Amino acid sequence: MRIAVLNKDKCQPRQCSQECYKYCPRVRTGDETILFGDDGKAVISEELCAGCGICVKKCQFGAIMIIGLPESLEHPTHRYGQNGFTLFGLPVPQKGKVTGILGPNGIGKSTSVQILSGTLIPNFGEKKTDWDTVLKHYAGTALYDYFKLAASGQLRVSQKPQYVDLIPKAFKGKTIDLLEKANTGGDLDYLVKRLDMADILNRDIKALSGGELQKVAIAACAAKDADFYFFDEISPYLDIYQRINAARLIQEMAKEKGKSVLVVEHDLAILDMLADTVHVAYGQAAGYGVITLPKTVRIGINQYIKGYLPEENMRIRDEAIRFETHPPVEGPDIKTILSYDSFSKSFENVFSLEAKGGSIKEGEVLGIVGPNGTGKSTFVKILAGEIEPDAGEVGIDVKISYKPQYIKADTPIRVRDFLMDIADNFGTSFYEVEIARPLQLATLYDSLLTDLSGGELQRVAIAACLSRNADFYILDEPSAHLDVEQRAIVTKVITRFAESNSKTAMVVDHDIYMIDMISQRLIVFEGEPSKNGIANAPTTMKKGMNKFLSNLDITFRRDEETKRPRVNNYDSRLDREQKEKGEYYYT
Ligand code: ADP
Ligand code: SF4
Repeated sequence: MRIAVLNKDKCQPRQCSQECYKYCPRVRTGDETILFGDDGKAVISEELCAGCGICVKKCQFGAIMIIGLPESLEHPTHRYGQNGFTLFGLPVPQKGKVTGILGPNGIGKSTSVQILSGTLIPNFGEKKTDWDTVLKHYAGTALYDYFKLAASGQLRVSQKPQYVDLIPKAFKGKTIDLLEKANTGGDLDYLVKRLDMADILNRDIKALSGGELQKVAIAACAAKDADFYFFDEISPYLDIYQRINAARLIQEMAKEKGKSVLVVEHDLAILDMLADTVHVAYGQAAGYGVITLPKTVRIGINQYIKGYLPEENMRIRDEAIRFETHPPVEGPDIKTILSYDSFSKSFENVFSLEAKGGSIKEGEVLGIVGPNGTGKSTFVKILAGEIEPDAGEVGIDVKISYKPQYIKADTPIRVRDFLMDIADNFGTSFYEVEIARPLQLATLYDSLLTDLSGGELQRVAIAACLSRNADFYILDEPSAHLDVEQRAIVTKVITRFAESNSKTAMVVDHDIYMIDMISQRLIVFEGEPSKNGIANAPTTMKKGMNKFLSNLDITFRRDEETKRPRVNNYDSRLDREQKEKGEYYYT
């Protein structure tokens, strides 16, 4: 089956010469393969279309996709009208279980949730639909009872939105007011304690940091009395300790209270410990999406990592994502490109950072890990020369390119012009192969920086950082706002960039999979969040991970099949054995 998908926002018939219509060979032979609808936008007949793809190339706004669907896909669950996005399959929430959805953005996760929350009645690709049709369709399946409740209007749903930054726009007032309004389940006191939120209750919502907003959003969602809970990403802005804590809380909701919970999560270490089963989602962003049948969490993540879904007979990626079981071996003869002495920095006697001196080697990628509020961004800003330390000389005389944690786009400049201005090698084959293609920049070139979504802006900011001519590249939280597939790509781009150019990079991140794959050595931060922080000297992965994880009191084991790290259950036999031996990460 072939589908034609038109992005109505991109289709601008008044600003083009309707090239799709002019050049379509079927139109030229007299067929009505392309027409223009009441809104002036193109309407493509899938019955008449020959699938040549000429219109896709001719459309200057990239508004058309012609997609040959895998043969196994026959019956859509929902289609947003003619030439709209098509969804196949649905996740199945289960009482007492956490069900995960694993896959990139733009392939129907939110559409699925709208259907499951009863706000969108699935149309199975037809023009008309109603709840009777839906009930007949799902008769005898696990979703029948669920939709019966939805059809009766009695399904109670609680959702945590994906973008917590938008909360201050939607709610004005104190944190406690928002939480009390949500507290129809009556567990607020417990949730406040569990998520360590007592200090922020009387603060204004608009004064909260990203991490604080995330905790408020999680607490508000969990505090509602509902039949179905949906958490659209719990990890953004949280450090690994807070992620694990939130994951355990959500598991309690399912296990101890028997709730049905659905989660979307792009941090795979967290999804792995959080979910009981996962549905892998694949497809083509904005074109179509498939939600597979449920798989156990270990098998689902492993299949995803290997890039092949055997039950569906579907390859979703050319290559597997690879993890190394052993820590990287340090070569003694690697040149040191910079050394820095110990330094310190304090802010109005509220927060102080002590950094121990260290040296950084040519061609290495250094990972930086540690709790929020212990000065990681301050540390990299000092190295990058953005702020001065109080005591100690950093005295770095190499050229540094820096991607900050919070990226702002305040000038409405086109992405192409922005990048061309920075990169001497823009348009060269090296740039194309190593940066532009993997980061999928071509589709963004004509957009204005100010119009980009968080994830798009992150890709452009990473490209910009790697485009500058420098000796040392610092990337603060490159995983933020990226989906699971983009994280794997960015990890590869940074690693290859450092390797093939003998350039040195420093990556601050909370995603353990990314840190595991990207780093050759580690800088571990410790301290009391928002009060003081210690930046330890760079050390080996083995020593660094042991220190970091012993501070968190968690151990990891390696999955036998994919070698990916998996969190051990607290106080399990392996957890105890590894702690006794001091082997928190590499055994
Ligand atoms: P995800 O949650 O996986 O990011 P979504 O379900 O939000 O994906 O969206 C999948 C596709 O459906 C997107 O390309 C989006 O543009 C399209 N879409 C979402 N809502 C509508 C709508 N109301 N009408 C038409 N298309 C829509
Ligand atoms: Fe026409 Fe279909 Fe070819 Fe587009 S892909 S030009 S609609 S025949």
